[in-house]
Amino acid sequence: MVRLKNYVLDRWQEGQAPFRTLVDPATEQVVAETSSNGLDFAGILTHARTVGGPGLRSLTFAERGALLKAMSRALHAQRDRLLDVAMTNGGNTRSDAKFDIDGATFTLSHYARIGAALGDQKLLADGESQVINPAMARFHGRHFWAPLRGAAVHINAFNFPAWGTFEKAACALLAGMPIITKPATSTSWLAYEMSRIVVDAEILPAGAFQFIGAGVGDLLDHLTGQDVLAFTGSADTGALLRGVAGHVSGSARVNVEADSLNALVVGPDVERRDAVYDAVVRNITTEMTQKAGQKCTAIRRIMVPAGLVDALVEDVGESLDRIRVGVPTVKGVRMGPLTTAGQLRDYREGVAKLARVARIVYGSPSEVCAEGAEGKGYFAAPVLLQVDADTDAGPVHDHEVFGPVATVLAYDGSAAAAGALVARGKGSLVTSVFSSDRDFLGELLPEVAAWNGRVLTVDKKVADQATPHGMVLPGLLHGGPGRAGGGAELGGERGLHFYMNRTAVQGNRALIAKLLG
Ligand code: NAP
Repeated sequence: MVRLKNYVLDRWQEGQAPFRTLVDPATEQVVAETSSNGLDFAGILTHARTVGGPGLRSLTFAERGALLKAMSRALHAQRDRLLDVAMTNGGNTRSDAKFDIDGATFTLSHYARIGAALGDQKLLADGESQVINPAMARFHGRHFWAPLRGAAVHINAFNFPAWGTFEKAACALLAGMPIITKPATSTSWLAYEMSRIVVDAEILPAGAFQFIGAGVGDLLDHLTGQDVLAFTGSADTGALLRGVAGHVSGSARVNVEADSLNALVVGPDVERRDAVYDAVVRNITTEMTQKAGQKCTAIRRIMVPAGLVDALVEDVGESLDRIRVGVPTVKGVRMGPLTTAGQLRDYREGVAKLARVARIVYGSPSEVCAEGAEGKGYFAAPVLLQVDADTDAGPVHDHEVFGPVATVLAYDGSAAAAGALVARGKGSLVTSVFSSDRDFLGELLPEVAAWNGRVLTVDKKVADQATPHGMVLPGLLHGGPGRAGGGAELGGERGLHFYMNRTAVQGNRALIAKLLG
């Protein structure tokens, strides 16, 4: 069993007992233990602000980008070892583990390129220089983004220990803010190993990177208005952390990426077995089973014209039949277990809640055939439910079952009805619309855009090219309004803004250009 440490104040430090244990969710064996008890949390913040911040801010964007590139390379060089850790502690299949780890290195290298393109500046200009009064030719105003002087605290969910840690790190470090990163305890081993690689490679300036492997103690009580908190996890925890006194009194910025009842809409023009329809079946199967459905972007609600529901349920069922569930190291297994015993309990309770308003049309929450499991492990079967057009399916729009679960909702094929159903999610990370009907798309897209951080449209011309519904891309926004937390991460250069303050600078145009770029 491995004992994990914390990297704080530029050294590895063991927490005090009691330790929390981490398990292999396929075997229920304890694989590691961790603690952050006894750390000097106020001192960790001070170290980031006084040592890490100045070090990073002395560098240009291009130099910070080079750090990200070096991090990406160092991590990629140990990919095989990291994949093993993800499979052991996360219950990931090898393909799931790649999705997380390669997502991390890809995002780092994407932001490295953004840094290179921004060159030798230290501030970001926002828009052009503006004339304030035509009679005063030299006196102008221009907006700039400057890195905040505090620390960026990152708190992540259990399902993406690699990507979650390093997509946030990429934006903060490139913006010029030091980070204090905390993975969810249950799957923290992978984030710990990746942090070790980055620290051992001596890439970052002192104080720029600190890693807390378990609870954050009273850290959040010490935040000030120049610090930020980026949180990913459940809506309940997000709401709790927003309200912590330190944030309110110090006005620290908080970004929340939370639960989301993401949707897929099948348009009225889609016919069984056409290219768009096949893409629908592929996407539903992937989103229900990749990482055992434990993805914040997974499809939870599927809106289908009433006449196509039976066919789609049958075809998705056939596709799910081909997904073998079991211990991730068994050859041919395509879906591993849920991550913890608590997640398995939540899945069963969640399906029961949905089943009060919807019919289970595929799978069972109490029966799973898990290859190689030998009676152990937190395995769950894919479950598809169906709601008929005239049912008020409240829980389907309110309750996220964080596992291989989705619900088909019949609708009348109109854009108005589809839009109203999407909106019942109260704000989502992503909705996909599969249709080639321009009138339908033209009416539905503006409606859906108001309720989602990202909208994927798939028509017959891109059916074989489109990225999957759940794939977050570093160049595009990740986050969603309302229920999804109201957050905004990534989106290329936009992702830096959370870590910077926008200021309007007025004065002598030539002097401002010379001093600030
Ligand atoms: P969670 O229970 O809310 O935990 C999230 C993180 O918050 C963990 O690191 C947890 O640490 C920490 N935490 C919990 N209570 C805290 C407190 N009082 N003070 C400080 N930190 C605290 O969520 P989860 O079960 O890990 O993640 C599942 C949820 O995350 C799902 O609902 C999913 O939709 C959502 N999610 C959203 C996104 C997105 O980008 N929008 C991405 C992934 C997941 P411990 O583990 O140490 O308790």
